[in-house]
Amino acid sequence: TEAHLQAAEASGALNAFVHHTPDIARAQAKAADDRIARGDAPAMCGIPIGVKDLFCTRGVPSQAGSRILQGFRPEYESTVTDKLFGAGAVMLGKLNMDEFAMGSSNETSTYGDVVNPWRAQGSDAKLTPGGSSGGSAAAVAARLCLGALGTDTGGSIRQPAAFTGTTGIKPTYGRCSRWGIVAFASSLDQAGPMTRSVRDAAIMLQAMSGHDPKDSTSADLPVPDFEAMLTGDVRGKVIGIPREYRMDGMPEEIDTLWQQGIDMLRDAGAEIRDISLPHTKYALPAYYVIAPAEASSNLARYDGVRFGHRAKLSQGDGITEMYEKTRAEGFGDEVQRRVMVGTYVLSAGFYDAYYNRARKVRTLIKRDFETVFAEGVDAILTPATPSAAFELGEMADADPIKMYLNDVFTVTVNLAGLPGVAVPTGQNDAGLPMGLQLIGRPFEEGALLDVAQSLE
Ligand code: GLN
Repeated sequence: TEAHLQAAEASGALNAFVHHTPDIARAQAKAADDRIARGDAPAMCGIPIGVKDLFCTRGVPSQAGSRILQGFRPEYESTVTDKLFGAGAVMLGKLNMDEFAMGSSNETSTYGDVVNPWRAQGSDAKLTPGGSSGGSAAAVAARLCLGALGTDTGGSIRQPAAFTGTTGIKPTYGRCSRWGIVAFASSLDQAGPMTRSVRDAAIMLQAMSGHDPKDSTSADLPVPDFEAMLTGDVRGKVIGIPREYRMDGMPEEIDTLWQQGIDMLRDAGAEIRDISLPHTKYALPAYYVIAPAEASSNLARYDGVRFGHRAKLSQGDGITEMYEKTRAEGFGDEVQRRVMVGTYVLSAGFYDAYYNRARKVRTLIKRDFETVFAEGVDAILTPATPSAAFELGEMADADPIKMYLNDVFTVTVNLAGLPGVAVPTGQNDAGLPMGLQLIGRPFEEGALLDVAQSLE
């Protein structure tokens, strides 16, 4: 713990940590020592982790990377952090993220950009760690912590994992409680671990999972021993390769990586099968209707009264001015854009044309997956991202749609509620890490991680 606290405090150049919690870490480490001395050492006992700023942590600033939550210190602990602490984990601090988890490059945070610890060979340019869990990915990649908590609404665990050479799993919707996690799009949000290896991800996910009466969407199912399910044997497993994920203009290095992953699994004894997920091309537009719609509703609570920041008001300002000024100051550009899009697609005149249509598309996407799983496919292998990590500033300055295209391989998984894992599988010519995505059957995270191990 001391070594990690020191490393974390000396890592300012990465801007991964936004708040250090050394007192909590030392108290938890001491408690972990005592448990070990008593012979009661659960899996996460004494393991130093970082926590994405989206999780409410009791008495500790929890701002979701936003100015509007300035000064907010929750009086409660999220279920997931509570479970991890119960399993002996040690919190080093809170990690940077895109504001309200909206973004793919960690450039929308009120705390500023996170820097990827990786550099392309022969270049000093600073790269994005991906987003929105960019601080979590950078912290694990830079060895500042042994694991980190992330959240994934449309790819925010898997894309940053792919950009930093770390492993990240978004579990099945309902596997982990969302209670105490600042809500972005409630029907898509899930928490998950980001770690150095698949085995670590299995151990951490185990500690986070399980039914929670405080979240009515959490699944009342037993949590299997994920680590025990890592057999390393994929012989006979059927791996689907969806043809719709071979997109026009995909860089050759992504294609090569994908082929490399296919070869690795075939060599390990898996059966490779070409499959079709015909509605894939509608996923990104459907996601960018549903996610902003839910966000606009979830973010209505930031009114300048109940949480955090309130704008300075002038003589004569009423409650409307208070809302307007507070929200104009407190929310960044991307969040405001989402609130506007969300409000528009939910408005009476456009509800059927956009929101309802997106919900229908979502059902079709889910059915695509159900069909291939019913035909015996055990897992689906796809790229995780359309490129390796790009330069900071490169996309943030372009039009927002370019940034949204980063999520093209990941959003289908959230729309269908399935588990998806990003595993580092190779590197490009510039020496940057690249990851592939595996998608599994609902609530079969153990089997999914087992296949993922063959790609490490
Ligand atoms: N990049 C996507 C978005 O901006 C996904 C974010 C996430 O998964 N939290 O909405």
